[in-house]
Amino acid sequence: MAAAVSAGAALVAGVDLGGTWLRVGLSDLEGHILRRARVRTAASKGPDGVLEQIAETVRQLASQTPHAGLGGLVLAIGVPGPVDGRRGVVEGAPNLPGWRRVAVRRRLEESLGCVCLVEHDASLAAVAEHRLGAGRGSQDFVYVTVSTGIGAGLVLGGRLHRGYRGSAGEFGHVVVDPDGPRCNCGARGCLEAVSSGTAIAREAGRASAVEVTRLAEAGDRSAQLVLSRAARYLGLALGGLINLLNPEVLALGGGVIVASPHFYNQVLASVPEGTFPSLRGSCRVVRTELGEDQGLLGAVELGLDFARAQHDLPAGAVLA
Ligand SMILES: [Zn+2]
Repeated sequence: MAAAVSAGAALVAGVDLGGTWLRVGLSDLEGHILRRARVRTAASKGPDGVLEQIAETVRQLASQTPHAGLGGLVLAIGVPGPVDGRRGVVEGAPNLPGWRRVAVRRRLEESLGCVCLVEHDASLAAVAEHRLGAGRGSQDFVYVTVSTGIGAGLVLGGRLHRGYRGSAGEFGHVVVDPDGPRCNCGARGCLEAVSSGTAIAREAGRASAVEVTRLAEAGDRSAQLVLSRAARYLGLALGGLINLLNPEVLALGGGVIVASPHFYNQVLASVPEGTFPSLRGSCRVVRTELGEDQGLLGAVELGLDFARAQHDLPAGAVLA
């Protein structure tokens, strides 16, 4: 308690920036979320409008929090696209119009006078699930999300793995069928072009993957075939991840997994086919646990790590 009092004015702001929703939470250094907000992302206003919306939401929450100001604030933000982590620059975000090489760190630091950390949202979801959700207690943990696209976050040896340029986790762009459909990234037959919600809907000629799963569950044969093909490619690719990383836990989340237990079970059934014999059964494949708060909680965790190091508090002490 003494540490919390002495560091009482210090705050961490966790921000989960999505194409539809912007979620912001203010936490003390013990990891208690004191205030939170969820607003529709002002995506049509471009990067300038969205960054101002983030700063304004943080200011509002801080002004509502007794004995807290923006002095000493650490802000951590998850963004829906690749990030140059060292510079805090968002390379692009398919669901946010006009986002190309946006200097998020510099601009939020200038606007709020704080420290800003920028991370890919899948990496933050992985951190949250590893510490608070499906991966609790494991050292080697993989998070895979299957929704509009497919992405992954890696926690290896207990630490977030960012890769050389901060771009680790682009699992959706592993090519699984070189003659397959063209992917948004320009390549042909990426996993995302075959097994994502977008790919499932397109392949079945339907408006959404949820509609395809409903039809499949009602006995529609062609919807069933589309889903089982998508699930098989995904299961085989997950087997490849297990071969490569030998994780203890692999957690699957995202809209398509949530919408269809049938799809999830088909994915699970295909994983052993893509897994090296001695590794089969070595990895617990489970569903994610944290739901829509995942990104926000991961952002708060990242900010807490930084803030606790500044204040000489042990990382993760309260959460252990
Ligand atoms: Zn691709």
